[in-house]
Amino acid sequence: MGNNENNHVKVPKDHPRLTSLMYRHKIIEGMKNLVVAEAGLIAHGRGECFDYILGEITNKIAIQAINAAVAQLLLAQHPVISVNGNVAALCPEDLVLLSKTLNAPLEINLFYRKKGRIDAIKKLLKKAGAQKILGVDENTMVEIEELSSNRRMVDPSGIKISDVVFVPLEDGDRTEALKKLGKTVIAVDLNPLSRTAIWADITIVDNIIRTLPLMVKIALQYKKYTKEQLKNIVNEFDNKKNIQDILEFIIEYINLQKEKAFDILYK
Ligand code: ATP
Ligand code: MG
Repeated sequence: MGNNENNHVKVPKDHPRLTSLMYRHKIIEGMKNLVVAEAGLIAHGRGECFDYILGEITNKIAIQAINAAVAQLLLAQHPVISVNGNVAALCPEDLVLLSKTLNAPLEINLFYRKKGRIDAIKKLLKKAGAQKILGVDENTMVEIEELSSNRRMVDPSGIKISDVVFVPLEDGDRTEALKKLGKTVIAVDLNPLSRTAIWADITIVDNIIRTLPLMVKIALQYKKYTKEQLKNIVNEFDNKKNIQDILEFIIEYINLQKEKAFDILYK
């Protein structure tokens, strides 16, 4: 951690929001080190809000999406893990572990390509154990025409030739563009109503900090499965139903909290 005075505020170990505060600090530190864009702070806050109304747990519906995602990635010819600043700041080690377990390269892909950001993310991933990182050489990048933003530049040996792209915390425009290019898109997004969530083939509505370690665990198990078994897992998954189930879960969760709130207020 840096020398900012915020970092000297001691948070008691039994603080009910300890985990959340810890990850906030990672995002803040990431911003200071150039890894996270200013807008990344706002995106993180939007995610926190949705996590709150999901009870800050990985529910059974999300686990089904995670299972389908891992099976799909293991079936892919050219799977790629797209990395942005927030994911790199929150869980670099888990990204590296997942990349190794799935044999899927990491490709840095940014919306805000501020000078030095790619290098900062590269450094962070290397420190976490990454060996090969794609999307770092400006000279060899190629364009995907479906996008007007900076993210239209992709690595010719990564996203360009990929069949399955894993995009944690993606932007809607980009997800749409990847779909138009014929890619199978797997997203992690705490907001089940975002354009990313709706456009993706498999939407994991969960916090990336909980999703990645679970994916590694499941990947180790699924690597022993046959192609047929993996295909069955993918085929049984229905993303529209997945999102509808999540929305139902949120409604039920909020109703439960409503009851509890009244218990506390009128005791
Ligand atoms: P879209 O462009 O897909 O419609 P958006 O514009 O609302 O979405 P963005 O800022 O583009 O949102 O992307 C950030 C997304 O990442 C948000 O939907 C937010 O809920 C989600 N998010 C932020 N932090 C996390 C996290 N730790 N885990 C999972 N999702 C997260
Ligand atoms: Mg967006």
